[in-house]
Amino acid sequence: MRRGSCERELAARWEVEAVAAARATVKRQQVIVDAGAGAAREPGRKARLEPPKAPAQPRAAGEGDARAPPRLSPALPLVRPKPARGPCPQHAKPRGKGRGCRQSSGGSPEEEPCLQRPVTVDSSKAKTSLDALKISLRQLKWKEFPFGRRLPCDIYWHGVSFHDNDIFSGQVNKFPGMTETVRKVTLSRAMRIMQSLFPEEYNFYPRSWILPEEFQLFVAQVRMVKANDPSWKPTFIVKPDGGSQGDGIYLIKDPNDIRLSRTLQSRPAVVQEYICKPLLIDKLKFDIRLYVLLKSLDPLEIYIAKDGLSRFCTEPYQEPNSQNLHHVFMHLTNYSLNIHSGKFIHSDSANTGSKRTFSSILSRLSSKGVDIKKVWSDIISLVIKTVIALTPELKVYYQLDIPTGRPGPTCFQILGFDILLMKNLKPMLLEVNANPSMRIEHERELSPGVFENIPSLVDEEVKVAVIRDTLRLMDPLKNRKETQSHELEKPEKEEADTDVTGAPDDNAEAHLPSIFLKQVFPKYAKQFNYLRLVDRMANLFIRFLGIKGTMKLGPTGFRTFIRNCRLSSSSLSMAAVDILYIDITRKWNTGNPEHRESGMCLQAFVEAFFFLAQRKFKMLPLHEQVASLIDLCEYQLSLLDEKRLVCTQNNTGAGPDAQDSPSQETNSTEQPSVASPPPQEIDADNLTQPKQALS
Ligand code: ADP
Repeated sequence: MRRGSCERELAARWEVEAVAAARATVKRQQVIVDAGAGAAREPGRKARLEPPKAPAQPRAAGEGDARAPPRLSPALPLVRPKPARGPCPQHAKPRGKGRGCRQSSGGSPEEEPCLQRPVTVDSSKAKTSLDALKISLRQLKWKEFPFGRRLPCDIYWHGVSFHDNDIFSGQVNKFPGMTETVRKVTLSRAMRIMQSLFPEEYNFYPRSWILPEEFQLFVAQVRMVKANDPSWKPTFIVKPDGGSQGDGIYLIKDPNDIRLSRTLQSRPAVVQEYICKPLLIDKLKFDIRLYVLLKSLDPLEIYIAKDGLSRFCTEPYQEPNSQNLHHVFMHLTNYSLNIHSGKFIHSDSANTGSKRTFSSILSRLSSKGVDIKKVWSDIISLVIKTVIALTPELKVYYQLDIPTGRPGPTCFQILGFDILLMKNLKPMLLEVNANPSMRIEHERELSPGVFENIPSLVDEEVKVAVIRDTLRLMDPLKNRKETQSHELEKPEKEEADTDVTGAPDDNAEAHLPSIFLKQVFPKYAKQFNYLRLVDRMANLFIRFLGIKGTMKLGPTGFRTFIRNCRLSSSSLSMAAVDILYIDITRKWNTGNPEHRESGMCLQAFVEAFFFLAQRKFKMLPLHEQVASLIDLCEYQLSLLDEKRLVCTQNNTGAGPDAQDSPSQETNSTEQPSVASPPPQEIDADNLTQPKQALS
């Protein structure tokens, strides 16, 4: 019931944009004809709510190149020069409560003069996203530091990982641990946990098994289903962990065809049910690359780009059979593979060729009567649910790299979601990319072995908008100005009214198109917060981790968790708790190369938690058992915190049970779950609140 109403609401909200996207073809044509740029771009190539600007101009050769001059129209209004600002706000503060995941309002260099200045961006580690970044920065009129900078910058744009630079302030476009969290094996584990709690809600991820550890389980389960249903003739796809661009992927019909070689021992893989009936366009299989911005982890903020890319196979699709299983151009949609097919079609039009915009696909479906607002709504659900599955692990990485109270940057990240539409239009998640390609050019073979890079208009159109508008959303100066003006408004309203320096500059973005990214969380938080059980478990896990930067819970931390949450009883002795810890930890650490470090990882903690929940609340379905146990733990901890607070106020030193507490646990009021959400979300986020708030 919940699900149905959620989808309806999502559908209604997206209706306007979906319809606009489908109709934009006609408008676009008008715009291009008006601008006399018909030769530069084909009509109907874009379905986006955007004023006619860059696309209407004739395109200079090599324009996608980083060295090309700015592409802004000279007629566009310049940003107004501003008078000097008032007192400089303090930057680069040590991180306080909320574990630093919260979006900071500043974070620019302390030495920086507080005059009106452009946002500074260090692009020295941008790698293959550099060209799209440069264009974005020119459009925004921000200051790029291509070789880095002695002083800190406001934003660091990394091509690969959080660790590309050592940074202690500002913002960085990567979260620590994201690459590890979205790897095929880790993603499959996270999805499996969510599927066990909410099987219906998470049925958008194909059934998967992790190799080699679950090979026997895989064989047994397939045999069992076949025994029950002899007509079932499945196909499976084997994907090496950490692989990309279709590398090492193959299809099988029989579990025994898995290549269990020595490499599989050193490089795990995921074997997954193959989706045999994808939606076809022009008889070809295609997938969707959608860009998702994780703007903040705590509180959770998610944005989805209003358009994405569709990547096409180059050989007409047939359902898999023993003759075509190895036809990669038929079954794998990877651009990097299909580009080597003789049938790959480069096109500057968004609605033809082997790479098109997603909106062009939607227009086409819409013209055939497909309910595209439902498609969008299902995709949004898929994205929010997937991010909810990923955040627990990310939080554990986050506290490791950026512990509470230490200076550090705030993080955001653009993720690439690969989604396959089934014939019945249900979206299925294939994978999440931590570093989606932001290249805006492609290779063309001039003569055998001789290649040149040429700009790809379809890539540029989508990727530049994604980067530029991510930057606009993260704009630290604008966010700071907004914070300042809110602060000024409160106590000294009259003064604030006369002080224009603190007021947001509404015209600064007047020359830019409307924002390309759409907020979906916390906007739809109410419909999805009930799914955030593992997130709440992760908050408990982090609370008991101890003071040292670690991702594993030691036996003392686990005992303290049991004691402080009052979970031991006559039927669960502390000796039984120790055995539980040893059993589950050993299971997770044995033969698992990721878990060499001793201790209990988050997933092992989740397993132990499930076990405890099942014992305590026998008669309920699993997700209710787990939710009840979380409620109980949060309640007990909030009581404990309250007692501690009273003790501290009475100057009696540490509170009750202090002898049980790892140091971080004694600072427990700094937990993310206790951080106040923005006022309008208090209702929606009540799942993450302890039962009793601290005074
Ligand atoms: P990589 O990271 O190597 O690109 P993917 O998981 O994206 O790995 O898989 C590569 C391609 O294989 C996808 O783009 C898609 O075309 C196809 N594919 C992957 N998983 C499935 C599946 N379960 N069913 C059908 N096709 C799939």
